[in-house]
Amino acid sequence: MPQAGQLLRPAKRLKLAPPPRRAMLLAPPGAKRQPPAPAAGESQRRSLPIFQARGSLLSQLRSLDSAVLIGETGSGKTTQIPQYLYEAGIGCQGIIAVTQPRRVAAISLATRVSDEKKTELGKLVGYTVRFEDLTSNETRIKFLTDGMLLREAIGDPLLRKYSVVILDEAHERTIHTDVLFGVVKAALRKRKELGKLPLREAPSSQDILVFLTGQEEIEAMTKTCRDIAKHLSDGCPQMVVMPLYASLPYSQQLRVFQAAPLGYRKVILSTNVAETSITIAGIKYVVDTGMVKAKKYSPESGLEVLAVQRVSKAQAWQRTGRAGREDSGICYRLYTEDEFEKFDKMTIPEIQRCNLASVMLQLLALRIPNVLTFDFMSKPSPDAVQAAIEQLDLLGAVDRKEDQLTLTPLGRKMAAFPLEPKFSKTILLSPKFHCTEEILTIVSLLSVDSILYNPPSRRDEVQSVRKKFISSEGDHVTLLNVYRAFKNVSGNKEWCKENFVNNRNMMLVSDVRAQLRDICLKLSLPIESSRSDTGNIRRCLAHSLFMNTAELQPDGTYTTVDSHQPVAIHPSSVLFHCKPACVIYNELLHTNKCYMRDLCVVDADWLHDAAPDYFRRKLRAAKN
Ligand code: ADP
Ligand code: MG
Repeated sequence: MPQAGQLLRPAKRLKLAPPPRRAMLLAPPGAKRQPPAPAAGESQRRSLPIFQARGSLLSQLRSLDSAVLIGETGSGKTTQIPQYLYEAGIGCQGIIAVTQPRRVAAISLATRVSDEKKTELGKLVGYTVRFEDLTSNETRIKFLTDGMLLREAIGDPLLRKYSVVILDEAHERTIHTDVLFGVVKAALRKRKELGKLPLREAPSSQDILVFLTGQEEIEAMTKTCRDIAKHLSDGCPQMVVMPLYASLPYSQQLRVFQAAPLGYRKVILSTNVAETSITIAGIKYVVDTGMVKAKKYSPESGLEVLAVQRVSKAQAWQRTGRAGREDSGICYRLYTEDEFEKFDKMTIPEIQRCNLASVMLQLLALRIPNVLTFDFMSKPSPDAVQAAIEQLDLLGAVDRKEDQLTLTPLGRKMAAFPLEPKFSKTILLSPKFHCTEEILTIVSLLSVDSILYNPPSRRDEVQSVRKKFISSEGDHVTLLNVYRAFKNVSGNKEWCKENFVNNRNMMLVSDVRAQLRDICLKLSLPIESSRSDTGNIRRCLAHSLFMNTAELQPDGTYTTVDSHQPVAIHPSSVLFHCKPACVIYNELLHTNKCYMRDLCVVDADWLHDAAPDYFRRKLRAAKN
């Protein structure tokens, strides 16, 4: 008669072939005393019918949460399956429980299996029956009566001690086994919800790559993982946790390519830089959150926001492909199949999700006859094109004559800079405010990844060394102070370390600045320094970035002047705890809220001077 057993982990029916006659002659489990056992050697184990199914059983059990296994008596279910699981490392973080309706069976099976493993009973293999507990800290395979497991479930309904529960002789339908089915099913469901299923029993040589969205999230997760790493259970390989994102100092980025110390597993928490740009050897597991921080542009609101959003299917596959490049690998997707089906097929090309002002300026500079009908590979929306042209118009870069667009002399000069038009305009306006040197520095600082390095674990230290740079006028002036100090020490590396300044990005700033300065010289712009007068610098920024203005509202919140979008000051800004009446910002970042990043305090009057028509129009729109 076939017997059935249920496993907690792996819901499929698995069938076994009948055992050879030889095996059926042996004493059935449950015999009162140990029969004169034949040598429980490897070859004897291999001769059991279940042995042929070992590989396929294990691969099924690895991927299933629960399974029903049916096989002839004596084929090896009870004695072999716990050993297979143990040997394959499935459930090594916890204990593998095997229930028996009868006490004597639990004892004799434990004895048999410990014999087969050539270990002392009560060590690796043990048993627990009423009034008798022959287990120890080392016990990984435990035979127990179904009544005992039920008792344990009263203490811990999640059965946390166990990584696998095998309900043996389930076909007998004893009252305890029947109740246990319900208990185990509930535990399975709850543990899944809580993420308490012990996964990852992989050897330490197999590394893990986790895709997250940005620096703050990665740093927070790094801290959590490092805390977890301190309290890993016995037998679980240690882990080294490494963050990876663009503004991380280069030397730290390089660490992800080094092998972890022996016995340690690398866990890399990365932005999408690890998606395509770089390949890290040894990655066997990928965890894909399905999220990415990317630019999104809405021509209606004129908002270009860096927002956390769903990846595309193509991106999800790309991430999956990062697992097991040398060998087969596994990708854990933290989203459902239904959700995956709703992802966009391909990542939307940048041209369809960015402010096109820069592209339009380039096309006009190339004297493309009609930018509105240009043959784009993926056409941007007409609204986006219109919005870009409007922005160029506001910056004074284009002339519209009877549907014919041309660049103004200013627009032509703007096109000479490899920058967003608003920043080209800032540079071109700077001679008027006698602060070209400073503006060149500020624009360069904004053109590279962050020069400030903020390890959260050293937050207090960072705050105290940064104090000396902070300006109440905002982030632009603060960044300028950092750059000036950097120049004063001639880019000293030690100084950078002490001040949490990213040396590599700072060198890049110097490089960008030199290139921009060259362009200014070619355009014969007078290059002056405003020295300590920062008012002029802010005036200059107000005159070029006036489209990015936000005003303080009576209720203490901010809204943008352009589209009346509620916005907040990003926590990374030096103005985070201040409430200036009027600010300009560089960009908006949409996460849980819409945040302004890189802010400068300005006077409302300057803005009205800079673009009187624009502000009159916006004021009228706000009133209506
Ligand atoms: P199943 O659970 O599929 O009925 P078991 O795993 O209990 O099978 O037993 C597999 C084989 O192991 C049996 O056919 C027998 O050959 C051997 N065996 C099991 N228990 C003992 C024991 N106590 N002494 C000797 N041989 C045993
Ligand atoms: Mg059995």
